Amino acid sequence: MPRPTSIAVIGGGIGGLAAALALLRAGFDVRVHEQARTLSDVGAGIQLAPNCTRILDRLGVLPAVERVAFAPDAIDFRRWDDGRLLSETPLGAGMAEMYGGPYLHAHRGDLVAVLAEAVTAERIETGRRCVGVSSGVSGARVHFADGGSADVDVVVGADGIHSVIRETLFGPERPRFTGHVAYRGIVPAERLTHLALEPRCSVRLGPGAHFVHYFISAGRLHNVVCVIEEPSWTRESWTDPGDPEELRRAFAGWHPVVGGIIELMDRPLKWALFDRPPLPSWSSGAVTLLGDACHPMLPYGAQGAAQAIEDAFVLASCLSGAGRGDLPDALLRYEAIRRGRSARVQELSRVNGHRFHLPDGPDQRARDTAMQSSFGISPEIDWLYGHDPLVAVEAGTSARPA
Ligand SMILES: Cc1cc2nc3c(=O)[nH]c(=O)nc-3n(C[C@H](O)[C@H](O)[C@H](O)COP(=O)(O)OP(=O)(O)OC[C@H]3O[C@@H](n4cnc5c(N)ncnc54)[C@H](O)[C@@H]3O)c2cc1C
Repeated sequence: MPRPTSIAVIGGGIGGLAAALALLRAGFDVRVHEQARTLSDVGAGIQLAPNCTRILDRLGVLPAVERVAFAPDAIDFRRWDDGRLLSETPLGAGMAEMYGGPYLHAHRGDLVAVLAEAVTAERIETGRRCVGVSSGVSGARVHFADGGSADVDVVVGADGIHSVIRETLFGPERPRFTGHVAYRGIVPAERLTHLALEPRCSVRLGPGAHFVHYFISAGRLHNVVCVIEEPSWTRESWTDPGDPEELRRAFAGWHPVVGGIIELMDRPLKWALFDRPPLPSWSSGAVTLLGDACHPMLPYGAQGAAQAIEDAFVLASCLSGAGRGDLPDALLRYEAIRRGRSARVQELSRVNGHRFHLPDGPDQRARDTAMQSSFGISPEIDWLYGHDPLVAVEAGTSARPA
């Protein structure tokens, strides 16, 4: 019997673990190499739209994710000061039926734990930092900081926005600071009962800032993301402890619910948001990229992890059935299917960042009028959530117009 194709996945984040799981389900011999000593993801929430939960279902992990997640009934957009409703999209059973997958809010750590359990511990090496990769005539060699190496048929760089694999393939290029900074925090839901929050995601838009909050972890916790603008980010770290006083000042005068939630955020973390233009290519020989390593995006479409999970599914589908000599072509096919769609989602997220922060005035009023006339499922949401990667694999492209 020929040995199964061996694949090294660099990075055990949401993208890397989803890729490992999809590749294992397709019969490959997969190993995940994660630099951190333990698999975890910072205590923050993540929205999982139907284009992502449908894939989690195909990978067999949706029931486990549903057990630890929260199913919101809607997402609404509101004005910053008086809380006036600007638009509302129902996310409940009707959406699940329409798109074949529920809309969920999860704690990132819970999602990572579910994916890691399905991949199994014996296939995940932690404390293993990759420092480079060299592609050979057939296969590739991965080099680790501990001096070790691994020879495999395919390498998948799922090592996030700072990707060493991307740099090795395409050279150094610093991602761009977007001028946006996110404070993130989690508040136990029992401390918020006096605010009578609805079981939905609320996005509050104001001049130069926006505020997102929703329940996670079966409703036990409330996830909060507060985005403000800063002219520069000079610190080495991309994540800092946030200053609660600075946060309070940034949202002074906003709707009382905003102030009420901020008061209860104990230790908000401050994240600088970076961006990168779409890469012209993701693969070289037996090595390819996936997730934030090749298409980091602003969080304003709540699609970064969802796009990494779509990548994972398409990658496994393209490699499936490819003979050893065909693997580089299969990787090129994967990126040809994924590049158009992920670049479009990057762009949608960037545009949202601008629209969300308009100062009060004519442009903001035009935006609000447009939002108020588009209650329900917009063509953009339909394009995002209705995407089926299986159809894209069969058609060989994902670059459908929105
Ligand atoms: C404020 C905010 C809110 C967001 N909200 C959402 C949302 O609601 N919905 C959504 O879909 N997305 C959301 N995103 C985006 C999402 O978090 C990312 O797009 C997603 O986590 C990318 O996953 P990834 O696996 O590609 O990268 P990462 O999560 O960055 O994982 C990379 C992994 O690789 C490891 N690694 C790095 N370098 C090496 C190395 N050299 N060797 C070995 N291992 C290495 C890292 O330790 C890490 O574990 C949000 C992002 C932000 C900042």
